[in-house]
Amino acid sequence: MNKIKMRTPLVEIDGDEMTRVLWKIIKDELLLPYIELKTEYYDLGLPERDKTGDRITVDAAMATKKYGVAVKCATITPNKQRVEEYNLREMWKSPNATIRAILDGTVFRAPIIVKNIKPVVANWEKPITIARHAFGDVYKASEIRAGEGGTAELVFTSASGKVTRMKVCELDGPGVLQAMFNKDSSIRSFAHSCFKYALSTKQDLWFSTKDTISKQYDQTFKLIFEEIYNTHYRAEFERLGIEYFYTLIDDAASRVIRSSGGFIWACKNYDGDVMSDLVSTAFGSLAMMTSILVSPDGCYEYEAAHGTITRHYYRYLKGETPTSNPMALIFAWVGALSKRGEIDGIDELSGFAKNLKRACIETIEGGVMTKDLAALAVPGSKVTVVNTLEFITEIKNRLDIKQ
Ligand code: NAP
Ligand code: MG
Repeated sequence: MNKIKMRTPLVEIDGDEMTRVLWKIIKDELLLPYIELKTEYYDLGLPERDKTGDRITVDAAMATKKYGVAVKCATITPNKQRVEEYNLREMWKSPNATIRAILDGTVFRAPIIVKNIKPVVANWEKPITIARHAFGDVYKASEIRAGEGGTAELVFTSASGKVTRMKVCELDGPGVLQAMFNKDSSIRSFAHSCFKYALSTKQDLWFSTKDTISKQYDQTFKLIFEEIYNTHYRAEFERLGIEYFYTLIDDAASRVIRSSGGFIWACKNYDGDVMSDLVSTAFGSLAMMTSILVSPDGCYEYEAAHGTITRHYYRYLKGETPTSNPMALIFAWVGALSKRGEIDGIDELSGFAKNLKRACIETIEGGVMTKDLAALAVPGSKVTVVNTLEFITEIKNRLDIKQ
């Protein structure tokens, strides 16, 4: 069989622990036999990050900027315990945060839907993708605990020296104060990423804030989105027959519950934090959640939403057979290969990605699944619990029929 050839390298970002083990199995069994895989490889495993003083993470992000498409394994974000475990020189920052900052990107989380695992919300038939603006607001706020009453003011000194002063409140006793901010540039990047991703996946885009209450802050978000939509994206949305839709966050919440899914919901930082956990829990399993980082200039990095599955890794080191669910990791490769094929005009590559995706879904819909999913399967449906290797073999068998 002739292997599929690639033109532009895919940026391959390796990671840690159980997902690093799964990464290799996925490549060996499901990719290398079919594709002359052309990747630029970056090892973001913790030992290599430590060795390079985290330079490797920056290099991986720059390569993503250069080539436009990356696929990433899960990586450890070191804490105190990890610094001891890996004898690190420093408590390196989260690689995802570093890459996101360099790409100025937005993260889109989308569940993988299969017929025999029903979301808690019965009418959700298609995925709901959450886009979270991961900059500023309450996450970068300054806070004061006022131990006694007093006057609170908001003071802004502009670069040109103009002072704006505003009374916030007169506290008649102890209380709490908070000041937060965001930047037009960051909101603009967020908006571009959202519109680009909606076009790329041909889905409607919803955006919600509370601009009726927050007449400057949230209003700014709303107006920037509106302006960018009208200036850059409206024509293309209309051509594809998709919609940009703005509404209040509380209205969005109730519409989302009543919807059948199949759209992207863009949220401010805090709303996105809460709603992405809510939506992903309702769809079932972290192992079935994908995550895509999209930059405002249209670079894509695909990964699984879950972490390095440390608990499984420690059992694996003791000799236990892996039982982790590789779906989200395989889907990261599916997304990246499909995008690479689309950009380079290589139909075989996009076609292969589509077949691999179908093979994965048919495996689970055929009742073959890892144990994390067995508990979620529709009661009474056929379930055969398999380990990771058996699961991948089942996928491969189905893929071979399609290729
Ligand atoms: P995790 O790796 O997502 O795993 C948490 C638990 O979720 C697992 O113990 C397992 O539950 C279940 N799970 C997750 N993925 C699964 C899969 N594919 N198949 C089956 N079960 C799965 O989160 P964590 O344990 O909190 O974090 C571990 C490390 O990952 C940390 O060092 C963290 O820094 C890192 N992390 C990285 C990323 C990233 O790179 N994007 C994201 C999050 C966390 P059971 O044990 O009950 O089976
Ligand atoms: Mg959260």
